Amino acid sequence: MRKRLFAALLAALMLFSCATAEEDLIIEEVLLDETGAEVPAGSSAGLPADGSVGVSSAEGMTAVSAGGASSPAESAAAEVFTPSFGSPYPTDPGAGDYWSLPMDITDEEAVWKMLMAPMTVVRVGGGNQEKKQTYLYREPDENSQKIGVVTRDSQGVRVIEQLDSGWSLIECYSSSFHDTKVKAWNLLVQGYIKSEYLVKMDPNPAMGIVVDKLTQRLYIFQDGHLLTTLLCSTGLVQHNGTKWQPYNETRSGEFFLMSKVGTLKSDRLLCDMAIRFNSGDMVHEVPHVVQADGKTKNYGSTEPKLGTKCSHGCIRVQRYKTPEGINMAWLWSQLKSGSRVKFVIWEDWQGRQIPPVDPNTVLYYNPDGGDYYHRAETCYMAKKRTFQPFLYSQLEEGEFAKLKFCPYCAPAMRAADIEAVNSRYAPGGDHDENMTMLRQDYFDYLRQ
Ligand SMILES: [Zn+2]
Repeated sequence: MRKRLFAALLAALMLFSCATAEEDLIIEEVLLDETGAEVPAGSSAGLPADGSVGVSSAEGMTAVSAGGASSPAESAAAEVFTPSFGSPYPTDPGAGDYWSLPMDITDEEAVWKMLMAPMTVVRVGGGNQEKKQTYLYREPDENSQKIGVVTRDSQGVRVIEQLDSGWSLIECYSSSFHDTKVKAWNLLVQGYIKSEYLVKMDPNPAMGIVVDKLTQRLYIFQDGHLLTTLLCSTGLVQHNGTKWQPYNETRSGEFFLMSKVGTLKSDRLLCDMAIRFNSGDMVHEVPHVVQADGKTKNYGSTEPKLGTKCSHGCIRVQRYKTPEGINMAWLWSQLKSGSRVKFVIWEDWQGRQIPPVDPNTVLYYNPDGGDYYHRAETCYMAKKRTFQPFLYSQLEEGEFAKLKFCPYCAPAMRAADIEAVNSRYAPGGDHDENMTMLRQDYFDYLRQ
């Protein structure tokens, strides 16, 4: 009896984790490049197959620095949320760069300026090193404690101070993956790196992208304006039945889009159109499985979760076209490998809130039995039908209350759904207690 109960519990746990077990599987996946050629599986995690993350990698592990990771809890009183929120080194509010800009997607001008601003990346040696990483050190001395890792070529860093000794103090979210020695899971860290490795680069002027972990939306900007909004899923910290996976949390920061990798295969899940932006983290189409007929793609286990966290670190993007005709396939078609389009990820700091929707916002529905409410009359779900407008303020009334959220055009969220997110992220709370627990090892390590 007890055995049976245990088996049932185990099965429940596995069921819970399997739908999103992509990352664990990715460790063993076969990566296909654009030509279909196999690349070593070990590289999929973003680190050299020999495990020589930064340090042991002969060509250039540099040791860097610093002040120790900042704890967001220490600065919970702050009201303006920027990517550098909680940093012991305040940003210049007027700088308008990624680190100093408040996370407000409605300020198109400011967001565009941030997306077009030059970015400082870490370059060690020549050639393409986009999968490799370099350590940040607690002091300007490579014998001091390693306190974080930064991914070469693609990850932007904030330069706080350049020392005469040839070292610089920088800040970034540590790009710690499952096999990284420094387990600063997505923590904003400040550390030292050799100044010679820091290079300022201009992003691609044609486009810029913002992913907000709070709203689980991907925003594409072109020519100074928000072109469209797509549903996405970033990583979810969970227990896979054997162990906790803190490395599932998508690492925040500013990045360049790098190589177009192609299709990621992980067990039955296939992730098409993957583009690398942070070592093992990629942006790709929402995963599918292939049916028994060998050709039909089934998105049933992953697509309904778009708009919520559920990947193992990668960013899943919708395949349905928005009213502007945009989906992951469009993005893939627009970009070449190494496009250096700036790709920004906003951290879901505790205390951030989704603003209420203007009650006069116009929505649409199909009066002839449509199941969904829409953002635009031109929604791709609307083929050959005429939609009727109504107001957001009517959404909870009568028949409108039964309408479902359209997965193509991503209309405004219902007030109750916004409230659910906002209560989880309420000031003083902890939207991810598991991560808080899992980060304790790192803070203990810092105290050594
Ligand atoms: Zn729609």
